[in-house]
Amino acid sequence: MLAALASFPKPLQSFAAGFPPSNFTPIRRGVGIFESRGGTIAWLIRDEALVAVDSQFPESAAVCLTGLKKKTARPMDFLINTHHHGDHTAGNAILGADAQHILAHANVPALQLRAAERSEAADLPKVADITYEEIWEESVGDENIRLSYFGPAHTAGDSIVHFQEADVAHMGDLVFNHRHAFIDLPAGADTRNWIAVLERAYNEFTENTIFIYGHGNPTHGILGTREDLLFMSDYLSALRQTVSDGIRDGKTVDEIAESGLDGFESFIVNGSTNGIAGNLKTVYEEVTRTVE
Ligand SMILES: [Zn+2]
Repeated sequence: MLAALASFPKPLQSFAAGFPPSNFTPIRRGVGIFESRGGTIAWLIRDEALVAVDSQFPESAAVCLTGLKKKTARPMDFLINTHHHGDHTAGNAILGADAQHILAHANVPALQLRAAERSEAADLPKVADITYEEIWEESVGDENIRLSYFGPAHTAGDSIVHFQEADVAHMGDLVFNHRHAFIDLPAGADTRNWIAVLERAYNEFTENTIFIYGHGNPTHGILGTREDLLFMSDYLSALRQTVSDGIRDGKTVDEIAESGLDGFESFIVNGSTNGIAGNLKTVYEEVTRTVE
């Protein structure tokens, strides 16, 4: 573990009943995180920059915005969405109220609108006004921000957001840190490419990079190093291997779901996240659908 990382308190996890506690944790060179309810928010505050990554839910977005406004009078330059899921975007209208732009991968607005339609939400979601296909880069103040899309993984619109000068990267839900992943097949999830995305990210970043994860568990937290990316890809590989072995051996989907998964006992189940059995069924569905 990085020496710089070891000195951080383990981030608060939001399992408390009712409205969870919220806190701001600085990481490096003006980049930090805000935790409350939903996916981790990252922020950048410099003399000439205010950027947020993800917006959680309206209530916690309001708390986050109030906290950011205490730290800087600057209007927000960009609100970035790592992907479309509601626990990362439902607070867009609040946190991004004075943002000059909301930014996301090109597939995100449509996925967000479709999810809102399906849930029969009363209000249309606030979606990105700037999108990109593969790479988006811009200087904001004295920081350079680079967004990368390496193809479908957790959804069909996952960005990696790299604050290059700080060398801090928000992975969104590409990493569920020691926690069973949510694999969103209807939104274009692809576990085979997800593994490739994590391996590519491992190679593009360095040992110095500090990573922020959308979700973690109480022991391992939501910050880490690039070794976590390989562990996450090992988890996805194990799911796929167990499913393909089961199919080879003529097992039913229910028998495969009961196979278990050795080596990932530290993983927890929480919220919308499926456990091992649920994820084995999801990968079975994915793999057999691909074969058809
Ligand atoms: Zn997600």
